[in-house]
Amino acid sequence: MTLPFLPFTRPSIDEATIAAVGEVLRSGWITTGPRCREFEAALSARFGGRPVRLASSATALLEMALRVAGVGPGDEVITTPLSWVATANVVLAVGATPVFVDVDPATRNIDLDRIEAAITPRTQAIIPVDLAGLPVDRDRLYEIARRQRLRVVEDAAQAMGARWGGREIGSFGDLVSFSFHANKNLTTSEGGCLVLNDETEARLLEKLRLQGVTRFADGGMDVDVLGGKANLTDVAAAIGLGQLPQLDAFNRRRAELARRYFERLDPALGLALPPADFEHSNWHMFQPLLPAAGPARPAFIEAMRAQGIGVGVHYPALHLFTLYRARGHHEGEFPQAEDIGRRIVTLPLFPAMADADVDRVCAALQRVLRPQP
Ligand SMILES: *Cc1c(COP(=O)(O)O)cnc(C)c1O
Repeated sequence: MTLPFLPFTRPSIDEATIAAVGEVLRSGWITTGPRCREFEAALSARFGGRPVRLASSATALLEMALRVAGVGPGDEVITTPLSWVATANVVLAVGATPVFVDVDPATRNIDLDRIEAAITPRTQAIIPVDLAGLPVDRDRLYEIARRQRLRVVEDAAQAMGARWGGREIGSFGDLVSFSFHANKNLTTSEGGCLVLNDETEARLLEKLRLQGVTRFADGGMDVDVLGGKANLTDVAAAIGLGQLPQLDAFNRRRAELARRYFERLDPALGLALPPADFEHSNWHMFQPLLPAAGPARPAFIEAMRAQGIGVGVHYPALHLFTLYRARGHHEGEFPQAEDIGRRIVTLPLFPAMADADVDRVCAALQRVLRPQP
């Protein structure tokens, strides 16, 4: 019997959600409308009543959040080189300069001890990233931000449902952006939300996401800022409304599966495991580092595929992409991020996985990393 291919992730969409999407499609109103407003209200309730606005992607939201924070040409924004490239691209998109700070090899997140040395008179903001759903230490982060008078745009794309100090990420802090991309812990297929500080910021975000337009009750309109086109659809919001009540159960299941990996993975394989942090992480991904002296990653991925197991890469160090090298970045600049970026692999982890699937991955790792003579 050959088992079906096990991907590294797969969304869990139930029949009630599919029916709700059908209802939107039949309703005659398929773009931004009542489902989006309902989803924004539900998210705001989850985040302690803070204003929440949806958009078509977290990338669009991060860029708009930087604009809301007043970041523009000539400014510097401190961030991590170990993230999805969107994190740094949005800084370039607003005409500012990303200033990278190497990661802490234990958490794989920005090294908080190194942030202050990177601050200059041009520094306006910090974009922390919670890689794999393991939050950056928010106490230390906001202590630095307060002391240095910097805005924080949290790239919490992967951190939906993660916690810090007993509070949920998004329910406190400055601007907090989440992604609802298909692979994230809560999905709308594509989309995201931004948590803001007050209604003035929320109003500006509404304008930035839709051509800068303000509509008046008498049917008239005005445009006073340059906005783009990044509104979410009710089709997508209906998916999100179906997902949100399941988020905590999804994340509990992810944690159970992660625990099983920690129990079952053979230490003799030489994999460097992520921190076993069951207090803070939402277990968006389970990512060991391949042994430094082990097989090259492409060969490893190919061998796992041959065993019926999907393996992802999230992410190579982004300052080594051509676009960033052309801006003067180079190998050796951020040794921790580069080492992790070369060795990191994403093993299957999603709520619909069975315990036996974890065992299957572990057995495949045993065969691939310790081939019998
Ligand atoms: C997914 C992701 C993004 C971008 O989210 P989109 O909704 O795809 O635009 C940004 N940063 C990180 C860390 C992500 O994982």
